[in-house]
Amino acid sequence: MAFDFISQQLDTRKNDGLYRQTQTAQTPQGRYITVNGQRYLNFSSNDYLGLASDPAVITAWQEGADRYGVGSGGSYLVTGYNQAHLELTEQLKAWLGVEALALFSSGYSANQAIIKLLLDKNALLLQDKLNHASLMEAGSLAHCKMLRFKHNDSAHLCSLLEKQQNPNTLIISEGVFSMDGDQAPIASLLQSSQQHNNWLMIDDAHGLGVLGENGRGSVVEAGFKNQDLQIYMATFGKALGVGGAFVAGSQSFIDYLTNFSKPYIYTTGLPPAMAHAIMIAAQMAEQEQWRRDKLHSLIHYFRQQATLHGIVLSATNLQESQTAIQPIIIGDSKKTLIVAEQLKKFGFWVTAIRPPTVPVNSARLRITLTTRHEQQDIKELVSTISTILSEH
Ligand SMILES: *Cc1c(COP(=O)(O)O)cnc(C)c1O
Repeated sequence: MAFDFISQQLDTRKNDGLYRQTQTAQTPQGRYITVNGQRYLNFSSNDYLGLASDPAVITAWQEGADRYGVGSGGSYLVTGYNQAHLELTEQLKAWLGVEALALFSSGYSANQAIIKLLLDKNALLLQDKLNHASLMEAGSLAHCKMLRFKHNDSAHLCSLLEKQQNPNTLIISEGVFSMDGDQAPIASLLQSSQQHNNWLMIDDAHGLGVLGENGRGSVVEAGFKNQDLQIYMATFGKALGVGGAFVAGSQSFIDYLTNFSKPYIYTTGLPPAMAHAIMIAAQMAEQEQWRRDKLHSLIHYFRQQATLHGIVLSATNLQESQTAIQPIIIGDSKKTLIVAEQLKKFGFWVTAIRPPTVPVNSARLRITLTTRHEQQDIKELVSTISTILSEH
């Protein structure tokens, strides 16, 4: 029978407690979320600054639609690059201190684009072992040699660089790791890449808006400039609350991308109304420091409460998370699923993250905090988790 692996593999997933399916939310992202008619406190959203349903961003999208229409009508090099895209680009350049940038409809396609564009069969790609699936998948599809260095281990990275000695080497790390919330050692990554004259890219999907002065991200938080990297990439779908992504670098790199990158050239431009909404969200992320201040005080409070209840945060070998992503590692996938199900019964929406998204035996509750939460929400969440865990 043709493609009979389909039903076999689905059965295996079900038996291993790894089966996944979509859940339909009936409300916007916020402190609460209604899923399948049931209301929950929402601890699973990447909307860290609470912008996804902010009235000012919604109004911006509506104004953008009035001004520019909803669709871009084509790819960026045909009719799809609108005044709204230009204004968003200029705004991001000024905020982030980068020379040039290109817009993408998703972070996933941006990462595919960069890796495919730069790394031919003679090139070398070095990735942190815990990098996001979009980076790993792009690396394994590219014709280059790809090696993974131990998570946040610059000494291991250096030893690989010394053995390989390839002038066309790209090193990629996330700024904030999406499933653990810990931060990359930006200073030593920069040092290693400079020492070997290689390129360094940071995917800052979870750092932009959350870390650094005025939300400029992980690199600025570490005391450097986004321009110190060859490639700074982040998405608009996390702290900015909308969707899409950008890739920033030197003018010549972005010119090269614009001329040679198929995922950039052969795709319809972001809807201009959406680009306008992203621009307003970016302005708010830059200027509304209270959102970051509140988020960081909630992160502190969550960690304090978890410690009070003796809950172990983060995987044993990792630095603890100081960011909006706070994992509680349970290990076994089925048990993690049961805990997440029980939390739902108590009215908390927390996602069980299981392999292959995370390494085997490190299934976890991935708790995300946002500006929308209140201390009381966190207090109730932590004491409920503590009760459930003590029953297992
Ligand atoms: C979410 C994410 C992406 C993908 O971005 P999308 O815009 O959602 O496609 C890429 N990298 C990291 C680290 C992410 O967390």
